[in-house]
Amino acid sequence: MNCPNCRTEITGIQQFCMNCGTSLFPTKESNSSKTSDTFIMIFLSFLFFSELIRFALQKIIPNWYESPTKLLFIGLNLISGISVILLALAIKEKNKKTIAIILAALHALYIIYSNVDWFLH
Ligand SMILES: [Zn+2]
Repeated sequence: MNCPNCRTEITGIQQFCMNCGTSLFPTKESNSSKTSDTFIMIFLSFLFFSELIRFALQKIIPNWYESPTKLLFIGLNLISGISVILLALAIKEKNKKTIAIILAALHALYIIYSNVDWFLH
């Protein structure tokens, strides 16, 4: 077996490469933390861009809440509200993840409900 990073020959069971310190067992742990990071990044991007667009709509379009822009606004509300689920998915511990997903789903339902309500009025 050779180190995946520096190609040094590894003898016996070592946790880290003696030459460069690379972990020799990039287990599920590092994979799942990469996935979590991705979920959090997507969530933050959704949040950032939807806030940015909502802010711009309010500034640029007068009476945005009466025009078809309202639909776009509602769409953005839904995206950022539902994207909270991504944050829940990023949690690694199983029990906490389950609870967080339930909370995020309830939050998403609330966002859907309040926006549909707003849409109908
Ligand atoms: Zn190495």
